[in-house]
Amino acid sequence: MASRLHVVNEDKEFSSNLTSQLSDWGLSDAGFNYNVVSVFGSQSTGKSTLLNKLFGTTFDVMNESQRRQTTKGIWMCKATEIPLLVMDVEGTDGRERGEDQDFERKSALFSLAASSVLLINMWEHQVGLYQGANMGLLKTVMEVNFSMFIASSQASKPPKTLLLFVIRDHIGTTPLENLRATLTNDIENIWNSVSKPEGLSEASLSDYFDLGFVTLPHKLLQPEEFDKQTSSVRNGYFGDNTSTDYILKPQYHRQIPADGLSHYLETIWDKVQNNKDLDVPTQQELLAQYRCDEIASEALKVFHSRLVPVKKPVEVGKFVPELGRVMRDSSKEALDTFDSTAFRYAKPVYEKKREELAETISTTLSPLYISQVKNLHKKAIDSYKKELHARLKSDSYDFSDVVKESSTHHLDTFVEQAKEITLAGTAWSYVETLEQLKLDMEGVSAECRSDELSKIITQLERSIQKEAGEFVEVCLNAPDADMWDKVLERFSASLERSKASYVIKASRLNSTDAEVDATTGSLVRRAWISLRAKIDEQCSEQVLLFRLRGIFEDKFRYDDKGIPRVWRPIDDIEGVYAGAREHTLNLLKLYRRIEPQDASHAFVYPPVDDAVLDVIKVSDIEEAFSYEESLQVLGEAKEAQLAGRFKKDADAIYLEAKRSVVSSISK
Ligand code: GDP
Ligand code: MG
Repeated sequence: MASRLHVVNEDKEFSSNLTSQLSDWGLSDAGFNYNVVSVFGSQSTGKSTLLNKLFGTTFDVMNESQRRQTTKGIWMCKATEIPLLVMDVEGTDGRERGEDQDFERKSALFSLAASSVLLINMWEHQVGLYQGANMGLLKTVMEVNFSMFIASSQASKPPKTLLLFVIRDHIGTTPLENLRATLTNDIENIWNSVSKPEGLSEASLSDYFDLGFVTLPHKLLQPEEFDKQTSSVRNGYFGDNTSTDYILKPQYHRQIPADGLSHYLETIWDKVQNNKDLDVPTQQELLAQYRCDEIASEALKVFHSRLVPVKKPVEVGKFVPELGRVMRDSSKEALDTFDSTAFRYAKPVYEKKREELAETISTTLSPLYISQVKNLHKKAIDSYKKELHARLKSDSYDFSDVVKESSTHHLDTFVEQAKEITLAGTAWSYVETLEQLKLDMEGVSAECRSDELSKIITQLERSIQKEAGEFVEVCLNAPDADMWDKVLERFSASLERSKASYVIKASRLNSTDAEVDATTGSLVRRAWISLRAKIDEQCSEQVLLFRLRGIFEDKFRYDDKGIPRVWRPIDDIEGVYAGAREHTLNLLKLYRRIEPQDASHAFVYPPVDDAVLDVIKVSDIEEAFSYEESLQVLGEAKEAQLAGRFKKDADAIYLEAKRSVVSSISK
């Protein structure tokens, strides 16, 4: 059994359940594929009985035995087999004046705004009674029709309404044709008496209304004929749209999409109930705006939910590869959802709202686009850096080739991926970021070259350090006047080899001559600092003491021919001792300061200048290093201390020699 709804209750309140009821009836997505019919007529003329019979509805029927009136208001029910909404207006009794008449007028307005067909139910014996209740109602319908559709009558033709007269308890003595003629005549008379708006005084009834007539036999006296006749009306007039009698024609349709019907009827009832001016075209326009907004906001809800998984990652700086697809799919889905329902509403409203929706979509996506372009920039730079360093690790490369290949590749990738997320129809652009990327990539390659140059310098510095480790030890172990000349000569030879190798390696990195010159200074300084460290190692207190002791012993224990001395009492032990000590202390003086005999062997230390700083980083040690100070090897105090300790060692050796003589005499 189809459920029914009390659309307007006895207190004249509009139901809040219509939307859900329409959805229960399966009409939410029906678009224009549905119709509304209403019934009018005096009370207890079998209206509800008829509707239930025709459409399988479940309206209350007055109880035969009690003859109590059914609940007042407007009821709605869906026909069982066709997409048709049926409205049953209760409480009409033209014989009573006042309250009921007001409600009758209001329900007529309400019904007319929604229904394509009005069923006018009457007894056969009421036909020709011009003063009858139905005739008053019809006059009302015609009058309100003008006011309701006045706006559309200026622009386009107002929708037509079918008035279907159902003549009940037709005995058959007066044929339908006669009844039709009588009623048509009456209706024309009513039409003529209706006051018409300016400019429409000549309007004819048929511009606004079509008329139809059906007769039905007495339900109780001729039940079989009644059944037969009602089922033929159901099929011919409402069921089969190929039948010539079919009356649910498009020209009668009020063009309210099913999804907007609930809101439309509610606002119509509100106007009617509060006695406000009601013009349907304006209501339709308002409905269009209301519904288009509602449909758009539904679409946007889904749209926003689609963006949730990508929004955060993109915002926190992650490159999200599926972003383009998500943006395209979600905006298409939103617009498609909007279109699928909103297209039925007034075109200008629909188009304007669609534009607004597209704008909102684009405004929502734009920050994601901007973030993603930024992420693409970062990704390109990071990957470019990595690739450069990786490729420069190989033994053979041409720096400019590597830079060109890799930067082209990364710029292409950037453009490709940025293009992919630049949605059609937007003013979005990645050009500025692309320009920035180019600049930043140049910065990266410069930095990368600087890193490589520094690495080469470090390698060369290490090999100098290694060589210095050997020759410094050899030279300082055999002190003589040109000890520093030898150290500096060998250092200079080692440095020259490194410089030559540096020039070759640096030029492979596309360095200009000026850059090579500037950075060679760093190699030279670092080489000197390494050398100095080796000299310090070889001039530590322990090493020097050990060396001095060796020199002294050579002089004291061996004679000029290198034969070990055997001390005899006649020997001048004191004299030899003093000579050897003097000789050794004189050699100690050589370690004071790096000072070649030949001035041309002096090292030239290049100062740190801005030119080098433009190309590579310079270490703090290098910058703070003082060449002048580095020439001093032993301080005065240090030398005195060393001399003191050496003398003690020498004294011990001397005493030992003395004791050996004494013991040989006593033997
Ligand atoms: P409504 O007030 O117009 O909706 O009338 P109802 O459908 O409630 O019916 C009112 C009374 O009329 C009920 O007692 C019905 O049994 C009776 N009725 C229904 N159909 C017919 C009919 O075709 N002829 C007559 N004479 N009575 C009918
Ligand atoms: Mg009824």
